[in-house]
Amino acid sequence: MNAPFVPAPAAGPRQPLRERGQHEVFCGLTSIIWLHRKMQDAFFLIVGSRTCAHLMQSAAGVMIFAEPRFATAVIDERDLAGMADVHDELDKVVARLLRRRPEIRMLVLVGSCPSEVIKLDLSKAAERLNRINFPAVRVINYSGSGIETTFTQGEDNFLAALSRDLPAEPAGAGPSLIVAGALADVVEDQFRRIFDALGIGPVAFLPPRASTALPHVGPNTKMLLAQPFLGETAKVLEGRGAVHLPAAFPLGEEGTTAWLKAAADAFGVDPDHFDAVTKAGRARARTAVEKHRATLAGKRIFFFPDSQLEPSMARFLAREAAMEIVEIGTPFLHRHHLAGEFELLPEDVFVSEGQDVDCQLDRCRAARPDLVVCGMGLANPLEAEGITTKWSIELVFTPVQGYEQAGDLAELFVRPFSRRARLQVEA
Ligand code: SF4
Repeated sequence: MNAPFVPAPAAGPRQPLRERGQHEVFCGLTSIIWLHRKMQDAFFLIVGSRTCAHLMQSAAGVMIFAEPRFATAVIDERDLAGMADVHDELDKVVARLLRRRPEIRMLVLVGSCPSEVIKLDLSKAAERLNRINFPAVRVINYSGSGIETTFTQGEDNFLAALSRDLPAEPAGAGPSLIVAGALADVVEDQFRRIFDALGIGPVAFLPPRASTALPHVGPNTKMLLAQPFLGETAKVLEGRGAVHLPAAFPLGEEGTTAWLKAAADAFGVDPDHFDAVTKAGRARARTAVEKHRATLAGKRIFFFPDSQLEPSMARFLAREAAMEIVEIGTPFLHRHHLAGEFELLPEDVFVSEGQDVDCQLDRCRAARPDLVVCGMGLANPLEAEGITTKWSIELVFTPVQGYEQAGDLAELFVRPFSRRARLQVEA
């Protein structure tokens, strides 16, 4: 067995430890679980294997309803024999689906490992289907393959595809705001009310709830990222003229205020008016987090790389709940988008980018943190070793952004401690 690697304290955000080894993360298909609930008239058709279908079934098992808005077109051995067959098969599946589900307005072809391995060009397939098939349906595509995406990169690829498809800003358009990143409807409504009260608008959320409500984009569009994992989406929107408003992400009272302030400053909102509009929400957020502070304060937390939300979560937990950060692992560190977070984190915080899972497990065991945030695959073995864990994917599924959710966000990290305390009492 290797000796545990103990990190050099110098590996802060400016010099993260870069690891390129085996990693354990869900693939981009997983993002369909929250995306299909967000866009009510879209259908996600995975072009994949039985493995992909099983993953989706088990991951989304609890959420399947009578007419799910996703499915898998299975590439079988016969299809693998020749490309022409796959395209024909796909056309037939799509035609059947759209006849049966006339309410679909956007069909999203999602690539997977098998479609990538056989080099099936889904952008060509989307182009062809747009030309020949159903005039009321727009077909787009993106890759959710495990070879190139983690689960949040799946959302990034989808939003990047959507951004390429946005209509161009009409001549003479005034300033507008796009908030990019899937947010729960309840969170979106809260933010919309705040933007309205601040006098910021028009505001569009990407993805919209209906594919027919795509916002326009151009040089007068300002862009606020609601999620830290949208590198590709931001690049596409910027390529189309949008101006990114850098800020910390809207997690906790401080992050939400910084995020809203970035928009307020860009739209020339008077600082006193900003304070007046946000004052009550800020106070509610502080009070809600305060309730959980006693449990979290002083506890040491270790993040394995999973969702790219890790630096933002760490900032919230360190500054608002007084937790101590042992390591912030993140699959990818977008320095520019995360600059607002690292300004608020201690300069010597230990950051690792990418993963070499065995080395990281060694570091984690050596550090004996009070709480580990990681993927499901690592959680069970670590729990068995007596280490308290939190599944990182829950942080993406749960509405956690904004003032009203700050208490829920803190509570997510309190729960593993309560669970362990209960287990110890029962044992
Ligand atoms: Fe597995 Fe790849 Fe399919 Fe994801 S896309 S379920 S990693 S085969």
